Amino acid sequence: MTLLVILEHDRGKWSEANDEALTAARLLAGDMGTDVHAVLIGDGGLDLAGQAAAGGAAVVHNVTAPMLTDFGPEAFGESVVQLVAAESPAAVMAVGTSRGNEVMAHVAARMDLPFVANCTTITPGDGMWSMTRIQWGGSLLEDATLDSGDGPKLVSFGHHAVVAEPAPAPGAGTVQDFSPNLDESLARTIVKGRDVQEAGVTLSTAPVVVSGGRGVGSAEGFEQLEELAGLLGGRVGCSRAVTNLGWRNHTDQVGQTGTRIAPEIYIATGISGAIQHWVGAMASKRILAINTDREANMVVKADYAVIADLHKVVPAITAEIKKRKGL
Ligand SMILES: Cc1cc2nc3c(=O)[nH]c(=O)nc-3n(C[C@H](O)[C@H](O)[C@H](O)COP(=O)(O)OP(=O)(O)OC[C@H]3O[C@@H](n4cnc5c(N)ncnc54)[C@H](O)[C@@H]3O)c2cc1C
Repeated sequence: MTLLVILEHDRGKWSEANDEALTAARLLAGDMGTDVHAVLIGDGGLDLAGQAAAGGAAVVHNVTAPMLTDFGPEAFGESVVQLVAAESPAAVMAVGTSRGNEVMAHVAARMDLPFVANCTTITPGDGMWSMTRIQWGGSLLEDATLDSGDGPKLVSFGHHAVVAEPAPAPGAGTVQDFSPNLDESLARTIVKGRDVQEAGVTLSTAPVVVSGGRGVGSAEGFEQLEELAGLLGGRVGCSRAVTNLGWRNHTDQVGQTGTRIAPEIYIATGISGAIQHWVGAMASKRILAINTDREANMVVKADYAVIADLHKVVPAITAEIKKRKGL
């Protein structure tokens, strides 16, 4: 009886979320007294078997079929269901990215089993498991129990709920090929194309994120944030008010319906810190809020705050950094 952990990749490009997934899987497998078996679905997965082994996987299931070249939630879900039938794991887990939870939801529906998503802790027991999970976009932590009868436990850890750590020792990483039988009815939603973002750090992995909200005042106002982010080796983010106004693309949006970030420092300028924004930013290690309103939620929750006009503060920070860098 093993623990299957579903890893994510895009045609062989490793997802950073996998480091969290393997960390959480090692902890959970340790508590279960079992091994971690990694599941890599689709073209290019085999190239990542070494990385999965380095993360502690004793076995790597390389799941391939023509329909699995690109992500499709139904085909991926059914592939996991067939792997579960072949391997009889005690549990299947993923990290609660949108893809991870979508695949797990399909697995649960197809197996008619309960699925507990976005856990922060999981305590295995005899039959019944207990867990704490994130609800309402992060504003509520809920204690729950999970009884799956004779079936495997289906769970996901919240994205950024576990800090990725290197494995103390690699796993054997024995590769086992698996080819599920997938019929055409499973191809209703398949990724057909992709816009590759510019090279460099992404919003979800950037060590520094400099975000702007409605207080920035215009699309052009973001140029000063771009300059500051560039000096700090970071990325520019924004609130939904900004994307609604058409000042930035949705790919830059931080929050419940945007990207969840976890930088070393989050600089939030002209952002009120509504709950839907906060849940995407709250995993930041440090937060600096720049806002004219000292009562703004973002200011109240921040580690540091400057109560002033961002159009004066941001250029002042930029000028000081340039001076110190001799630029
Ligand atoms: C279902 C749902 C999902 C949502 N998802 C998201 C999401 O993913 N991400 C998200 O961000 N929002 C989301 N929202 C929207 C959210 O509720 C807020 O409306 C939004 O975050 C507000 O954006 P804001 O802080 O930029 O604007 P505002 O709330 O208008 O705040 C502007 C801030 O700028 C400050 N300010 C103004 N001028 C200056 C200045 N010159 N210098 C410094 N400070 C200044 C003001 O004091 C104020 O605090 C969602 C809402 C719903 C209903």
